[in-house]
Amino acid sequence: MSDIPLLPQVEAFLRRRHGLFIDGVTVHSHSSQTLDVTNPATGQVIAQVADADLADIDAAVICANQGFARWSQAAPATRGNVLLKLADLLEQHREELAQIETCQSGKIIQISRAFEVDQAAHFLRYYAGWATKISGQTLTPSLPSFNGERYTAFTLREPVGVVVGIVPWNFSTMIAIWKLASALVTGCSIIIKPSEFTPLTILRIAELAIDAGLPAGVLNVLTGGGHVGKGLVEHPGTHKVSFTGSVPTGIAVGRSAMGAGLTRATLELGGKNAAGFLRDIEVDKAVDGIIEAGFLHSGQICAAAERFYVHRSQIDAVLEKLKTRLSRLTIGSPLDERTEFGPVTHQQHQQKLLGYFAQARAENNTIIHGGKLIDRPGCYVEPTVILANSSHDTLLNEETFGPIATFLPYDSEDELLALMNNGPYGLSASLWTHDLGKALRMIPAINAGTLWVNMHTLLDPAVPFGGNRSSGVGREFGSAFIEDYTELKSVMIRY
Ligand code: NDP
Repeated sequence: MSDIPLLPQVEAFLRRRHGLFIDGVTVHSHSSQTLDVTNPATGQVIAQVADADLADIDAAVICANQGFARWSQAAPATRGNVLLKLADLLEQHREELAQIETCQSGKIIQISRAFEVDQAAHFLRYYAGWATKISGQTLTPSLPSFNGERYTAFTLREPVGVVVGIVPWNFSTMIAIWKLASALVTGCSIIIKPSEFTPLTILRIAELAIDAGLPAGVLNVLTGGGHVGKGLVEHPGTHKVSFTGSVPTGIAVGRSAMGAGLTRATLELGGKNAAGFLRDIEVDKAVDGIIEAGFLHSGQICAAAERFYVHRSQIDAVLEKLKTRLSRLTIGSPLDERTEFGPVTHQQHQQKLLGYFAQARAENNTIIHGGKLIDRPGCYVEPTVILANSSHDTLLNEETFGPIATFLPYDSEDELLALMNNGPYGLSASLWTHDLGKALRMIPAINAGTLWVNMHTLLDPAVPFGGNRSSGVGREFGSAFIEDYTELKSVMIRY
């Protein structure tokens, strides 16, 4: 097993003195504080980034407002063309971006290439198509006139202004692209605040955006800790927050946004997503589905399934086969192209997962597979399968955000529906069955923003995505994003 060599431009990028990206250029922070970026596969510090302060936040907000004044006046086709050009540049820099992403996040290199770069380019092109299709309506006013005068009315969709895009560490490139594409195509400007664990790739993409023809000030990146996100949300010069992250931080962000003068906020939060396997599914198909749903990117996907309900008649066979399959996974360095399962993204997360293993043991859950750290440098944990005793067990209720699949058998479909709807979240769910009629009858009874049948986790830019209940507010993708990034202005004319 051996790592691919890092490209010279990646080595050079990592060695840079990283600054903030404001007004189209890299500038040094007013603050002397820096944050280390650590490669979770080795535990080694690979770069340092600025920890922005209030003066940096002010500077970025001023520039983003100036950028907004220019960009909101750009022709729709110009906006679309810039996104198309940026998509081309992502593909031209595919290996460079994928390697930077893998070094900072521990994501295996194939996932960095396929999702963080290729999918991100695909999303950009999808959004670019909307640039020329966002419009208002012509309306006929409803009241009778008094003196024979007539009325007509129409609506305009206008960009909200400066967007704050707050991004988590699990898909730091793709999620940043979702936010900047939504903002730019609607005519907004944006300030991205990446997670302190994974701030590097978006700094490079911001440079590529300038090469793609984006005017200075329209896309800005402020690195730093959570205080940077908070400062941006509370700043009177920002107009919308697009947050993706955990439920507790999302609730705090929602409160701050409201308190800061009713700044609108979309919140894409976590969940405890369920997968229900009906009695008719074959064991091999179920196991393929569980690996897809629960273990891709070590389970660090908001939409991943963590609760697995399998009919009692099949659960032993499913667990046995899953154990065999997981024990054959190639675990190793994320820069080795043969690796199938890499580290989790940071040490606090590794320790949190260790806590969940202890909790499962304390509640007498059965550890079917894994349940330990992997004995090598870096943030590795074993892919883990747990059989719970009851729906009240911690591992069936708290989001672990890791490679831990927890199972419970069920006997009837009514019981399955009750189990799947258990808890406060509603981000995603999946049903696995050959009986599509039955699946269609069950779908309305399942609480989830996205429900997959015989698949799990695939996101498509044409299909709206977001959570119900405690999993969030608002939707990304499709045409749904337009409402969140634009204001509706009504115009009435008497004649
Ligand atoms: P966090 O909520 O910890 O952080 C998310 C972002 O918010 C980070 O950039 C963080 O900065 C920033 N932040 C922290 N505190 C504040 C604050 N007070 N005000 C504003 N911003 C703040 O989430 P994680 O990064 O740990 O991501 C994992 C979570 O994200 C999981 O719960 C997962 O389910 C969810 N998620 C949801 C998705 C969805 O689409 N629904 C998609 C992907 C993930 P810093 O890191 O520097 O502290």
